[in-house]
Amino acid sequence: MRNVYGRKRVLVTGGAGFLGSHLIDRLLDRGDEVLCVDNLFTGDKSNLDHLAGHPRFEFMRHDVCFPLYVEVDEIYNLACPASPIHYQHDPVQTTKTSVHGAINMLGLAKRLRCKIFQASTSEVYGDPNIHPQPEEYWGNVNPIGPRSCYDEGKRCAETLFFDYHRQHGLQVKVARIFNTYGPRMHASDGRVVSNFIVQALKGEDITIFGDGSQTRSFCYVDDLIEGFMRLMETDDDVIGPINLGNPGEFTIRQLAELVIEMTDSKSGLVEHPLPQDDPMQRRPDITKAQSILNWEPSVPLKQGLERTIAYFRGKLAE
Ligand code: NAD
Ligand code: UDP
Ligand code: UDP
Repeated sequence: MRNVYGRKRVLVTGGAGFLGSHLIDRLLDRGDEVLCVDNLFTGDKSNLDHLAGHPRFEFMRHDVCFPLYVEVDEIYNLACPASPIHYQHDPVQTTKTSVHGAINMLGLAKRLRCKIFQASTSEVYGDPNIHPQPEEYWGNVNPIGPRSCYDEGKRCAETLFFDYHRQHGLQVKVARIFNTYGPRMHASDGRVVSNFIVQALKGEDITIFGDGSQTRSFCYVDDLIEGFMRLMETDDDVIGPINLGNPGEFTIRQLAELVIEMTDSKSGLVEHPLPQDDPMQRRPDITKAQSILNWEPSVPLKQGLERTIAYFRGKLAE
């Protein structure tokens, strides 16, 4: 139920992180009230500094592994470390966050009878042997490797979302997010776009894991958030999962060369060992997002990188 002012109250878990903070900006822009719940495990309050004193914004420090009793109209569940070095830092906590966090947020949604969005991931496809990946593909995931805490945690969260839907009639919206980049990525969380830009700007060697022939498809953050909001606004029968990502596919070596060119950097390339279970290729099939959400990315890699490079230039100058 909307409050007496007719405004929607939206809960964003993980709202101090990269994606969550952009989502909060968009929700506030359209006039909603936003409650951000975050334990600041990987998030950074500076991502929300510009909202200090905002009359429709509230921050609550809380771990979603524990029950949460609040009154809201919609829930976006984003809380979870997302980069490999972050989610492998405390793998048990990563699985707990995905699974216990999903149970608590689903329990909250069930009590409130409200819609709930889940930030799932292309990692549910593991190291895919079908390319590009459609939602029907069940994936190729190692259940006991170093990435499993994240992959299996997110897969179990999807199971919970679909069971709460079938068993309790909950309105769920599950998005499978592919690699996304943009301002407010953490400079030191080891993700490839932030690593390469920071290394290029500092004139340090660019670290290519393996021979750089593995591929990823990079989506600019603004495009992704538009996809989140469109999915949340769909009719009750749309539950997902729906892939959200940019189908433009690049090798990691191509990305390195592009970043060097765009930053006019003197950095060289050095090869490091490929981490275990690192997927060799990844590209979303976005047919469903196009037809159901009328959504597709509009920011090409070069343009998105320009904005992201400008952001990191500013950060490094601080
Ligand atoms: P991020 O690390 O910047 O943000 C995650 C946020 O969750 C952080 O603010 C962190 O402090 C918070 N958090 C972690 N554990 C928590 C807990 N137990 N309780 C409360 N808060 C907790 O990562 P991001 O890139 O913004 O990712 C957001 C979501 O999107 C994650 O669920 C991630 O799995 C998913 N996702 C992201 C990408 C991507 O490319 N960025 C791709 C696929 C999926
Ligand atoms: N929960 C919560 N907030 C609520 C309602 C439930 O955090 O407003 C938690 C609660 O702690 C429970 C979980 O969500 O462990 C799942 O709730 P559900 O009602 O599905 O299960 P039950 O309480 O019957 O175990
Ligand atoms: N990668 C790399 N150098 C780096 C960081 C990452 O070559 O400094 C590679 C990594 O091995 C993977 C790809 O870039 O093949 C994307 O890595 P990221 O951690 O950004 O995301 P994910 O593996 O979760 O897709």
